[in-house]
Amino acid sequence: MTTETIKASISPCGLSCETCFAHVDGDIRRYSRKLKEKLGNFEPYAKRFETLLDHPVFKKYPDFKDMLDYLASENCKGCRNENCKLFKDCNVRRCHQEKRVDFCYECKDFPCDQTNFDERLYKTFVKLNEKIRKTGIEEFYEKSRISRRYI
Ligand code: SF4
Ligand code: SF4
Repeated sequence: MTTETIKASISPCGLSCETCFAHVDGDIRRYSRKLKEKLGNFEPYAKRFETLLDHPVFKKYPDFKDMLDYLASENCKGCRNENCKLFKDCNVRRCHQEKRVDFCYECKDFPCDQTNFDERLYKTFVKLNEKIRKTGIEEFYEKSRISRRYI
């Protein structure tokens, strides 16, 4: 695989855009769209199943549908193409261009105080980049593609 392929999937900070729920080509969006398509006009049926099956979970269908609609509609093109929709204050996108590195682990200032991340994200940022440094970006990329982003 090429560096460009890896860069399309992994952002400079080390997070995986490819597995993010908001990514336009991500599995979460893809499967949400598929599930929406398969469910079709399920709403009146959910109402009916509420009585037929006497199960309260069907009352929650409208909320589930809202969430599914949301997941199916996200369309971020990834950090290399546009500002992150989740971490709006992120400074890494701008900073890595100035420092002329593809990933933060390559930067002489890593780990730095330039990210603008909150404490939790900063810890993840450091952990991910240390892991990339240890395993190499190719192995990290292959593993990230089959791992769960949300653990
Ligand atoms: S840039 Fe942010 S919102 Fe977009 S896919 Fe990457 S992590 Fe998700
Ligand atoms: S200064 Fe920090 S945020 Fe900027 S490229 Fe280096 S490690 Fe990344």
